[in-house]
Amino acid sequence: MLNLIELGAGVWVLPGGVNIGVLVGEDGRAVLVDTGLNGTSAKKALKAVREELGAEAAAILTTHAHADHFGGNATVVKRSGAAVHAPAVDEATLRYPLLQPALLFGGADPPTSLRGGFLLADPSPVDAVLQPGPHVIGGVRVEAIPLFGHSPGQLGFVVGDVFFCADVVLPEMVLDRYRIPYLFSLTDHLSALDRARAVPHRVAVPGHGPVLEDGALDALIAVNFTLAMWVADAVLELTKEPRTAESLLRDVLIRFEAPAADAPSFYLLQPTVFAYLSHLHREGLVAHEVRDGQSLWMRA
Ligand SMILES: [Zn+2]
Repeated sequence: MLNLIELGAGVWVLPGGVNIGVLVGEDGRAVLVDTGLNGTSAKKALKAVREELGAEAAAILTTHAHADHFGGNATVVKRSGAAVHAPAVDEATLRYPLLQPALLFGGADPPTSLRGGFLLADPSPVDAVLQPGPHVIGGVRVEAIPLFGHSPGQLGFVVGDVFFCADVVLPEMVLDRYRIPYLFSLTDHLSALDRARAVPHRVAVPGHGPVLEDGALDALIAVNFTLAMWVADAVLELTKEPRTAESLLRDVLIRFEAPAADAPSFYLLQPTVFAYLSHLHREGLVAHEVRDGQSLWMRA
């Protein structure tokens, strides 16, 4: 059974919970774009590359340090010796995965409920820290595109006319389920959406959901941008009275019918509200004050 879908010359995708890209250069070595959540996704990718392309993985390009994208790195490295290339800032989380749940939990020692597989991956070695710009990795020519925002250092990769755009956009199916997508920085995310729109491509491969052709990425960028603006408007409206971030979060969750019924979904959205607040503060639209032992946000 064929698992890999050919997208262009030397470019394939293994569709899954996280889409795994496979790039093969002239010398026949394979480069993976992300490795999925864990050893199972990693083994599936290695098997597909061996059986369907007769290639061995020589390198991994990690788009960003979320467990579902790099959780398979350790297994790929152990089985193939592939070199891991990861974005600046995010690379620290590959080496010390505890940073992901700790970032969500206000920087503190996260409770067990935030140490599940989706938030805490096995550590991955990092052989090279990738900067935006052109690179030749494992014999493959790639352009790394800065798409910061969803994570501090997220990178997309352009290979020929295929654009691996990571989680700069989430598909409507995912947006429908989670209502408000996690963000590290709204300011950076808005720039990343603009930058992604300007990347010439024929096919785009997002981290999740179907491959995007015929301008479908533009349409999805518009959907993700509109949603970010709705959430920003809601946060701004809710700061008519001075509010703590936690009380803002509660009202935003209710307004968007976000299903935050467990620790991971709640603690993904708590920093997300902070990302909206720091953006609105930077824009001069909200003010911040610490008063009577409370951190209060209010319209400027
Ligand atoms: Zn992500």
